[in-house]
Amino acid sequence: MPQIIDGKAISDAIKEELKIKVEKLNKDGIKICLAVIQVGSDPASSVYVGNKKKACAYIGIDSLAYELPEETTQDELLKLIDELNAKADVNGILVQLPLPDHINEDAVIHAIDPAKDVDGFHPQSVGKLCIGQPGFVSCTPAGIIQLLKRSGITIEGKECVVIGRSNIVGKPMALLLLRENGTVTVTHSKTQNLKEVAKRADILIVAIGKPKMITREYVKEGAVVIDVGIHRNENNKLCGDVDYNDVATICSAITPVPGGVGPMTIAMLMYNCVEAGISR
Ligand code: NAD
Repeated sequence: MPQIIDGKAISDAIKEELKIKVEKLNKDGIKICLAVIQVGSDPASSVYVGNKKKACAYIGIDSLAYELPEETTQDELLKLIDELNAKADVNGILVQLPLPDHINEDAVIHAIDPAKDVDGFHPQSVGKLCIGQPGFVSCTPAGIIQLLKRSGITIEGKECVVIGRSNIVGKPMALLLLRENGTVTVTHSKTQNLKEVAKRADILIVAIGKPKMITREYVKEGAVVIDVGIHRNENNKLCGDVDYNDVATICSAITPVPGGVGPMTIAMLMYNCVEAGISR
């Protein structure tokens, strides 16, 4: 049986640590406030936004919710971001993605003050990660590093293969593994011989967006497998990009879906908010 990496327990532990930190900050007169903007009423986005507000309340972070109608123009959204950038009592600004088609996501991400970029998507945050300077890191890959470290898995010197090169998961994941002294290979939809490349991995990170694509044929015996994917299967149950039951027969450690990577994303968002409050 492989080690099952418990993202729920690890994220709970991080939230408890943050709660204590925020209590101390509050005693010193430092309040932390996250502004969350949602445009439209996509049901999945509403669930994510609701979970973020709940986590803020639990940790002691104030949250401001801006629920804007679907027809909000890009200019109106940029104006709101400008106002929040200027507010000294707002430490973090989060715009829930995806945005409606008539709004350019890049323009919106660029508009957020990098000092309040708690999602870590601003080019300045990404640039700092790239050259090894401190800054906000995209929450899902930052959470995966915590999952590995807190599960006693060494990254240094290991062969790490990342499947997927998105700006929010695959690319920052590769940079973080490199920062931890892993030997990193990034693969994607045009990679030749993916099975052979993936089989080189001591640590295999899967962020493809294809339900159960990764079977044991992609996995070296004894590898650590981290599954970022989230899907609903034919029975409306959650599953990942990894065929869990198949891969669990060969790997040494694995994240389940749900209860693996998912809970870590919000925990690391809370971590970034607290950092934003401390460093203002
Ligand atoms: P994306 O669609 O932006 O990127 C997918 C990447 O996978 C691309 O780089 C593409 O080249 C690669 N890819 C696609 N098909 C491939 C194939 N057949 N072989 C090899 N590579 C292939 O997706 P994303 O935003 O990185 O998300 C990936 C998955 O992770 C999705 O299921 C998403 O829902 C999930 N996700 C989960 C969390 C979380 O908190 N757990 C956060 C973000 C994303």
